[in-house]
Amino acid sequence: MQQILSSKSENLISKESNYGAHNYHPLPVVLEKGEGVFVWDVDGKKYYDFLSAYSAVNQGHCHPKIVGAMVEQAQKLTLTSRAFYNDQLGVYEEYVTKYFGFDKVLPMNTGAEAVETALKLCRKWAYEVKKIHENQAQIIVCENNFHGRTTTIISFSNDETARKSFGPFTEGFIKIEYDNLDALEKVLESSNNIAGFLVEPIQGEAGVYVPSEGYLAKAKALCEKHNVLFIADEVQTGIARTGKLLAVHHEKVQPDILILGKALSGGVYPVSAVLANNGIMNVIKPGQHGSTFGGNPVAAAVAIAALEVIKEEKLAENAERLGIILRDGLNAIAAKNSLISLVRGKGLLNAIVIDCDEDSDLAWAICLRFRDYGLLAKPTHGNKIRLAPPLVITESQIQDCLSIIEKALNDFK
Ligand SMILES: *Cc1c(COP(=O)(O)O)cnc(C)c1O
Repeated sequence: MQQILSSKSENLISKESNYGAHNYHPLPVVLEKGEGVFVWDVDGKKYYDFLSAYSAVNQGHCHPKIVGAMVEQAQKLTLTSRAFYNDQLGVYEEYVTKYFGFDKVLPMNTGAEAVETALKLCRKWAYEVKKIHENQAQIIVCENNFHGRTTTIISFSNDETARKSFGPFTEGFIKIEYDNLDALEKVLESSNNIAGFLVEPIQGEAGVYVPSEGYLAKAKALCEKHNVLFIADEVQTGIARTGKLLAVHHEKVQPDILILGKALSGGVYPVSAVLANNGIMNVIKPGQHGSTFGGNPVAAAVAIAALEVIKEEKLAENAERLGIILRDGLNAIAAKNSLISLVRGKGLLNAIVIDCDEDSDLAWAICLRFRDYGLLAKPTHGNKIRLAPPLVITESQIQDCLSIIEKALNDFK
């Protein structure tokens, strides 16, 4: 019944296994082409992509406008370093700050780098503006967070797989329960050394945990009351994924520091950014932070094109509308098939929870069956399957995917 891998696929998988570090466990499918919501494997089989590279490919695979901007810029000038000015960066900085409503941007490359940048910025603001004593600043984070893979970021993770044998860790973080305002208030009131609160508006990697309505707005208000920076990590939730430009916009929140990555380039190039107003961003002076590739001309040209596509193709509106249709369809399947114990999400960032233990391999087996039927998704934290297609998907494609999902799940009844 299960699809047999071609020798071409087997051969390429064994190369990765032999010559690459084993820091990932990919689903066995080898892709060679992508266009819009679809990807093709090396044998020409076509799949719906329901992961979108962890929401980096919101604009769809190989979007011609974004790829075009990259190719054009790559033929002219790719990298100057920030030792000199280039003719693209300032244009991008003006565009992105006006787009999201901030005074300034600090350009980086990957999501983890942008999170690191936000943490450094927050600490510097705490010492120089809030006047916390040197080395005393604390940043509040949430349990089950995912903010990336650097040593400092895993220091405040509670994923033991991500932490074990990587210590010693960076100090200065206080972990509280997610979606718990009392816990936040208690910590804020316990000390004058709190500099910031770092939060994912929806916890993506943890399994698409959507907090209670009002949580983000109230958390922001509590932070304001205590002169603490509200730092939103929108690397996964941002840029139209949840049905608004930013997930915090569902609650009309403007963060003090905004972290973006992934879809900021539509998945064609590593581009990340930290945005803040002058009162915060101006604490960073020449030489205090940087990146050789951050803000390079290709990244600048690509990011403008990627953000234009979001507006031109009304991808936030599409995500909002089709997200409702997807969840309705999944709930209808769940009503008939007890394998799905829960459907949750916002916009086109969704998950189904499979009725099994977190360490069961049932969700993995289901994803293999999805693959056999032409849809790619991957379990996160054992029994949750994230369903997050590119935002350019259409209603009839969503219906097609619901049929695939139902058919695959019925094989396990
Ligand atoms: C993916 C992700 C990151 C890290 O981004 P990288 O580009 O992989 O370093 C940080 N925060 C969140 C919420 C993410 O989903």
